[in-house]
Amino acid sequence: MSRSRLTVVLSQAPGKHPAKRALEESIVAALLFEPDLEVSVVPNLYDLGPDHTGRLFLDGVAGDMVVISWLYPRAAFWLLDRDGIKGHMGESQMKPPADEDDDAGEGETDTPVDKPEAIGAAGTIPDRHIYCLDLRDSNKHETFVAEVKRIAAECKDRRAAKAREKAANSPAIIQLGLSATKPDLPTEQKAFAPEALLAPAGRRWYPVIDYSRCTNCLECLDFCLFGVYGVDSLERILVENQDQCKKGCPACSRVCPQQAIIFPEYKSAAIAGADTGAVGGLKIDLSRLFGGDVGDALSAAVAERDRELVNDGRAAVGATVGIPKRQTSKPAGPKDDLDKLVDDLDNLGL
Ligand code: SF4
Ligand code: SF4
Repeated sequence: MSRSRLTVVLSQAPGKHPAKRALEESIVAALLFEPDLEVSVVPNLYDLGPDHTGRLFLDGVAGDMVVISWLYPRAAFWLLDRDGIKGHMGESQMKPPADEDDDAGEGETDTPVDKPEAIGAAGTIPDRHIYCLDLRDSNKHETFVAEVKRIAAECKDRRAAKAREKAANSPAIIQLGLSATKPDLPTEQKAFAPEALLAPAGRRWYPVIDYSRCTNCLECLDFCLFGVYGVDSLERILVENQDQCKKGCPACSRVCPQQAIIFPEYKSAAIAGADTGAVGGLKIDLSRLFGGDVGDALSAAVAERDRELVNDGRAAVGATVGIPKRQTSKPAGPKDDLDKLVDDLDNLGL
């Protein structure tokens, strides 16, 4: 595929939910014959292993890309990044419905919080944008079609502006009739049969790190006792052994001080990668809920980890191993309003 066409990848919902399939199909049908788009369908993005054809296809996408999935955009973007499918995060103009975002009861405010600097994505980021759209944001296929067309126009304008800039900076090259562009990604996309892209993928469960938040404190590495985390040659945290994570367990997301650990399919919107949300109409600050003064989140994490240790035939360790450093200085004291809010959430079974 030429880089002048925008790649659109639709990631199917796991299972065969008829309403979800109908929305997916109507979006694909509407986009398929658009001349500036290259549309493909893959199984649930989160489930694609390294050898799945869908993943190989994504690896080879040559330029800007729109990924439409049933995942929060932040989760989809960083799971692609983990798989080496990198780019700059494109900004979508689609927003979640106002009252939908936090049905599981955890959320956060947009209020900026003082945080240490994040380490950012590893390596060189190719000169392209990846836009992630969440299929839960609308049940109308027209909304997605309009947004994809808007993105296509935006990408086209950006390419044109870059070409003009290069031409202005390289008049000699233009005069000599040489190419003024030097793409940093492949110019052609390998072709894969649609049925190969859609080969079934088994369900998976693993954490995804949002490096725009992660400060490399390594608390998750200390906390996880199942060998999921590791560090790269630059001592940066990474999810090294994805499939060693315990299915359904989100424990380490609760101990991350930056809420940088996402479990894209967890029931709570905040842990699944939502940006904002509310609890019963009350906006709360997740940096406090998960990482600051709240011991309850840590207790939940310890209990979840102990349960998995016992399931593995190992001894529970309680709070004696890998407890985040920030918690050791927490003074014992009466519960404040936030503690009570967390208690209320727990009582709701969230
Ligand atoms: S605990 Fe969070 S911030 Fe610290 S290294 Fe792990 S992912 Fe990054
Ligand atoms: S959820 Fe549990 S097993 Fe999975 S990475 Fe976190 S601590 Fe390790």
